[in-house]
This record gives sequence, structure tokens and C-alpha cells, in this order.
Amino acid sequence: MPRRPYIAANWKMHKTVSEAAEFVDALLPKIAATQHDVVICPSFLALSEVIERSRGSAVRVAAQNMHEEESGAFTGEVSAPMLVELDVDAVVLGHSERRQYFGETDDSLARKVPAALAAGLEPILCIGESEEARDAGQTEGVLERQLQADLAKVEPGRVPEIVIAYEPIWAIGTGRTATPEQAQETIAFIRDALRERGAAGDSVRILYGGSVKPSNAAELMAQPDIDGALVGGASLDPDDFAAIVEAA
Ligand code: PEP
Repeated sequence: MPRRPYIAANWKMHKTVSEAAEFVDALLPKIAATQHDVVICPSFLALSEVIERSRGSAVRVAAQNMHEEESGAFTGEVSAPMLVELDVDAVVLGHSERRQYFGETDDSLARKVPAALAAGLEPILCIGESEEARDAGQTEGVLERQLQADLAKVEPGRVPEIVIAYEPIWAIGTGRTATPEQAQETIAFIRDALRERGAAGDSVRILYGGSVKPSNAAELMAQPDIDGALVGGASLDPDDFAAIVEAA
């Protein structure tokens, strides 16, 4: 079965509820004919607005994080059942900004990924190496360790329900994109690593993320193992994001 292209907009801490509404109204006519999975990841506060405005369209909605417990004394946190009640489809887990600024660890991801699956949310699991690791030739080791740790409690049969986003940290928000060859080579390695873990690596969708924009999207997504993109900065503009969806 061919893997359906998957394009996700990670808005990070951008867009108020009214700005999110404006974006969705502008985007929907531009992507009306798409057969791809188009996913918007707004702030928690704008989830409902985006969900309600995009009903009946190709757009699916993801949160940018969640807590691994269903409920409890975790002030400021949001759980999977809370997201599911809103009709959220997916959740970004392990984004490098969460790892870097908010202490997200592989240990907590090992609990979050199965918690998301158990609740019926599609995890979009982000992995990626630092510039130092790439320069030191440690990219594959870093990615292998992240996969091993973050998927430790996921049965191999459920791995195809997860979307993996390969995001080299040195390419996120920097304007520096991995070359299509670098991204292809690394994503092919991730697919092999999943196969070695006993998962059906051929059916897992693996995205590239890191300074994707309309001018480089087609070349990146034309690579045989790259199934789509996780887009930050360029996803804030409906014209740019629609152009990236079209390029897939
Ligand atoms: C991201 O936020 O996941 C991302 C890849 O950001 P940008 O496209 O801005 O590099």
C-alpha cells in the first residue's frame, strides 16, 4: 500500500484563537482538492476553533504535547482524554523545543507514546540529532537510541500507527535545510531501524522537518522514503502552507 502524504503545520506558540480561525478560513479553499493528510497543530487554546472550522475538510488537528497520565495533580498539563473529548486526532511528541527548553526526556516519551495510542491519538514522534552529533558522525547512533527509548513500550505491531518526524535540530527554525540527499539517507536509515525492531517499517510514515518552505518542499518530498513534512515557520502563512501541501 502506498503511504499517503502527510503535511503537518506546527504553529508552536503562534496564533491566537481569532488568528487561527482566519488561517483556517483562508486555507480550506486552497486545499479543497487535496488527497493528502493535512494536519494543523495549534496551541491548546485554538484546538476547538480549528476543529470546528475544518469539519468536513481534509484537515486533521493535532496538539503539540500532552501528559502521559490520564488525570492527576499535574498543574498546567493536558491529558490524552482531554484532547480526545475535543475530537483531536493526533499529538506531537518529543519536539526538539520540548526536549531543549522544557526538559522532555526519552523516559517520559516512552510513557507518552503508548498513552497516546491507548487513547486513540496518532503520535507524531519527533527525533533528530544536534549539529555536534552530525559533525561527529553520530547521527545514526543518536536516532537509534531515541527510537529504542521512545518506542520501548510500543508493541511492534502498533508502530505503523505512529508518524515519525525526522527533524535535525540544526535545521529547525534556522533557514538551513538538510539536502534532499541527507534527508533521504537519514530517513531510509530510520525505516531500516524500525524494520530491525520488528516493525513494518514500509508502512510507517516518516516526515522531514527543518526549514521546509514552498521553494524546497517538492524536492524533499520527491525522495522515496520521505512521506511528507512537519513545517514550522512556513506553516504560519496559508499561501505558503497550501503551496507545500500541493508540492507533496
Ligand atoms: C518545526 O517546528 O518542527 C520546524 C521544523 O520548524 P521550521 O520549519 O521553522 O524549521
